[in-house]
Amino acid sequence: MFLESSRADLRGRAVIVLHAHPDDEAIFTGATMRRLADAGARVVLVTATLGELGEAYVPLAAGETMAQRRVAELERAADLLGAQRLVLLGHRDSGLPGAVDNVHPNALAAADPQRIARRLAALIDEERAEAIVHDDHGGIYGHPDHLAAYRIGAAAARMTGIPAYESTVDREHVLGPAAGTHLVHAASLATGSPIGMAGEQITLTIEASRAELDAKRIAIATHASQITPDDVEHAQFDEAYRYEWYRRTGAPGLLDQLGAGDAAVSVAG
Ligand SMILES: [Zn+2]
Repeated sequence: MFLESSRADLRGRAVIVLHAHPDDEAIFTGATMRRLADAGARVVLVTATLGELGEAYVPLAAGETMAQRRVAELERAADLLGAQRLVLLGHRDSGLPGAVDNVHPNALAAADPQRIARRLAALIDEERAEAIVHDDHGGIYGHPDHLAAYRIGAAAARMTGIPAYESTVDREHVLGPAAGTHLVHAASLATGSPIGMAGEQITLTIEASRAELDAKRIAIATHASQITPDDVEHAQFDEAYRYEWYRRTGAPGLLDQLGAGDAAVSVAG
């Protein structure tokens, strides 16, 4: 059957997916994680902060903290996307550029990236991971924690010599009329930084299949403290979120083997 034969077999192989906050994994890499897991790869999700500065759209339970709520949402999203292990680095959300939270003693943005990268390098060795996914060099939209995740991920890749895939957004695509509203729009307005990269800087584009895009949508919606139903139920959701974009540093690696997945199957009939 074409569906089976067209898929890469990545059993026994591992990848580290590093993100700054709970919800970034679903919004920016959800379809990629789902495809990796479906191909048999071991997906290790590393989330650097608990996103505790996010404003809740829903009431918290009595005594519940924002961090507790966001970890619970993250655990569900990680399961939906096929992550086999979730590692929390335990840093504090640094808030928007210029916020006093940027210099909190436990803020990710204030931490020594080399020290955290050594921790990540040890994890890469332990998992025998062949690739790492991390934020792009502009922090996708300039958030201090995303910039930190870039520095940490890139340093860990250099320490271990594995390919790194900078997760980004094709700014022409998401700002184009077909894409409608994408969560990165408001995020970019909040930081005052540009979105992602120009298309010619992108080296790998993953196009989600129907099933992968559905899993991604549900995983995004699982972060209900941060995401409203309007964010995921609008008519242009598919076009806004169907692609995931990367810029690779190093030799071709695990993500380059993902190919077209069952998107190609639907074309083939
Ligand atoms: Zn984030």
